[in-house]
Amino acid sequence: LSRPGLRSPRLRNVSLSPQRRLLNHFITHPAEPIPPPPSSSPSPKTFTLAVKDNIATTSPTLPTTCASAILSKSYTSPIEATIITQLRARGAVITGKTNLDEFGMGSHSIYSHYGPVSQDNPLQTSAGGSSGGSAVAVANGEVELALGTDTGGSVRLPAAYTGIIGYKPSYGMISRYGVIPYANSLDTVGFLSREISPIKELIVGERGLWKEHDSNDPTSLTEPARKRCAAQRKGYHGQGHAGELKGLKFGIPLEYNIAELDPQIRDAWAAAAKRLQDAGARIVPVSLPTTKHALAAYYIIAPAEASSNLAKYDGIRYGVRDTHASSDAAAGGVLYASTRGKGFGEEVKRRILLGSYTLSSEAMNNYFIKAQRVRRLVRRDFNRVFALDNPLQERETFELSDLPEEVEMEDKWGPEEVDFLLCPTAPTLAPKMKEVMEQQPVDAYMNDVFTVPASLAGLPAISIPMRVTAEGAAGLQLIGQYWDDARLLDVADAVG
Ligand code: GLN
Repeated sequence: LSRPGLRSPRLRNVSLSPQRRLLNHFITHPAEPIPPPPSSSPSPKTFTLAVKDNIATTSPTLPTTCASAILSKSYTSPIEATIITQLRARGAVITGKTNLDEFGMGSHSIYSHYGPVSQDNPLQTSAGGSSGGSAVAVANGEVELALGTDTGGSVRLPAAYTGIIGYKPSYGMISRYGVIPYANSLDTVGFLSREISPIKELIVGERGLWKEHDSNDPTSLTEPARKRCAAQRKGYHGQGHAGELKGLKFGIPLEYNIAELDPQIRDAWAAAAKRLQDAGARIVPVSLPTTKHALAAYYIIAPAEASSNLAKYDGIRYGVRDTHASSDAAAGGVLYASTRGKGFGEEVKRRILLGSYTLSSEAMNNYFIKAQRVRRLVRRDFNRVFALDNPLQERETFELSDLPEEVEMEDKWGPEEVDFLLCPTAPTLAPKMKEVMEQQPVDAYMNDVFTVPASLAGLPAISIPMRVTAEGAAGLQLIGQYWDDARLLDVADAVG
């Protein structure tokens, strides 16, 4: 999988000389920014919005391509994603669709049919991925808010690398109708901005999105479930909690202190914890023993779901057909193969191969089923350390027999029940584009090591800029219990 021969030659030819200023973060701008619909209520304050190009928009000048050659730039979606409708009703003016890793698969926004995204900074660092285009648009001040998607970190990682805020809501809170699926059990719509307040206003303000069920999205939490969750959060939602740090308990997950952690990140993490302590918060060590298996489990589950999701792009049902391939019935396989062979990029093909293999009958038990068990354990780890219960799950007791043989329990600190977890968003500062381009594709998966656990457990998480002494950008991540989003946003505001 990591043979250099599998690398896309297109990427190697990209020059990143300062003269060329390869920003490339927008795929399309509409002829005119798309204004909000006329509203019957007193006109809402408008704000500019950039939209990741895997979220469906209906304007004829705004196609939805997922940065893939298999989706044509001349095609317009017949439906508008629910989140777009919701944001337009709240005053969003759409200024363009942003570049991404094809179908959301990647960590540096380099696997795009439209070329890689880059930042215009002296260090020429990666914008992160896969919502890198959205992050750069926000970081450059071109828009007030941008939408991304976060399956395993794609909003948090770009936020960390571009020095802005990236928020991934609890799974099931924000509708994904009209969001092109990558891995359905993990996909969430995420928000990028320079300040927390606009995000807070949209999620938990007067017309808070947290309340809105969408019957078009089967994973959108029903209204009764939302009410139940909110009740369990004791009125935190929608009440504008003051975001006091005093008395809050922050957990430092010891397993996140990995050998690969850049010492500058480790120091900045410790300094952030110290500042919280000085502000009256308690800092306690916690153990999340399954963390070290989370990344591997994610890279089994996400590609498995992706391989199934992408099966429909065959040139017949969806996707730009390779017209040079024979289309008679007997040659159907040739048509599929050449359409998919030409339409998908190298990284997407790698995921399809991985996913098809781990779902195949001889490999399924060893990979996919084991990864699902690890996922349950990751969830349990989180439920054990949070003071709040997970409203979707019964409090489970931890059985040693549930552990895969290779997992060793490191529970010597006992269950310290915390309000939030505090950790870096990524193990390093934003890397240089040059290094990223030369990296083996599978090595890039390492960047997601701190973001995938919250994704596997469906928990809300936010990346805020972390103060580092060195030149460069890094993110500080806060993770909360399920549906504790309001408090998470408040606290992130206070910490930042
Ligand atoms: N980098 C991760 C991946 O490639 C996460 C992507 C995402 O969250 N969309 O799968």
